[in-house]
Amino acid sequence: MWASEPLGHRSVVEGLWRAHTQGRLSHALLFQGAAGIGKFMAARWFVQGLACAAGPAAPCGDCGPCKRLAAGSFADIFIIDALADGEDVLKVGYISPRDGGPEKTIESFLALRSAEGGLRAVIVREFERANESAQNALLKTLEEPGRNTLLILESAHPDVLLATVRSRCICVDFGALSRADTALILARAGFEGAAAEQCSRWSGGSPGLALELQRGSALEVREILARVLSGQTDPLLASTEVLGLKAEFAGKTPAAQTRTQARAALRLVLGILHDVLALHAGADPESLAHGDLARGRKWSPACTAMTLRCVLDLCAESNRNIAAESLLDRAFLALREAERMSRPRKAAGASR
Ligand SMILES: [Zn+2]
Repeated sequence: MWASEPLGHRSVVEGLWRAHTQGRLSHALLFQGAAGIGKFMAARWFVQGLACAAGPAAPCGDCGPCKRLAAGSFADIFIIDALADGEDVLKVGYISPRDGGPEKTIESFLALRSAEGGLRAVIVREFERANESAQNALLKTLEEPGRNTLLILESAHPDVLLATVRSRCICVDFGALSRADTALILARAGFEGAAAEQCSRWSGGSPGLALELQRGSALEVREILARVLSGQTDPLLASTEVLGLKAEFAGKTPAAQTRTQARAALRLVLGILHDVLALHAGADPESLAHGDLARGRKWSPACTAMTLRCVLDLCAESNRNIAAESLLDRAFLALREAERMSRPRKAAGASR
């Protein structure tokens, strides 16, 4: 099969097939929802279901179009995935033909006649990667897409898209998955047991994030963080320990992979800080991903807010060319400082 059913999103996609059957499907859709929950997978399954001879419905896998899709010889669906091409930014060259750009663009694809005599569909993955000129270049197509054309933009950050792009699309919301569905996807990827269960729990219903946590040795990173908080590990040694863990991270070069690794560790720190704040607001520790670690923190709301601001600044800096080790050093020092500030004065004096 070219596309598989996205766990947890069947009813949303079925609603879209129904809309198509009734002739009320918009030609431009924005699939929005958290990262890693299966929006792109849903887009593929949806368009295969439209192309399928038995559709619009769950693709049969047996008809001519389904077989041609699986064989890679179906010409009426075009997918743009900048990240898979190793590009951080989706540039205008993907939309309109440019010197030195890819030969196949959205405009050149849509200018061709339908090979199958039906709908022509474009799916753009992670459209938030599109820079302003690429988004502007797409406006004309969003406005006058031509007959039998469907554009699907997928994004976990629709808020950063131009208002002019958003206003020309119908938004389709995708929700987080249940913990059981997340765990099932991890099991299908070969991850089971206590670690997989923890990663499912921390991901908040995003199998993509759960897989990233599992592959990124999140459990070990969290153990190091726990030791930093309890004072058992020197914050300045902890970053070396984190970056020395064996883990798989996305990135074209080793430096880019290390930056991804540092960002993942910073996200984990943010998750803990989030839970400290949630406890201040009266949340039940059992309901929180890091409730056990958060519960031990005697930080005042002001101290928590200050630490959070510091880590958020470091997250912003992580998008620039700053050494991963220095980012983590500063984050871990901020955690230790929060611990130091919240210790009773007498105890702090006695421990020196
Ligand atoms: Zn079929």
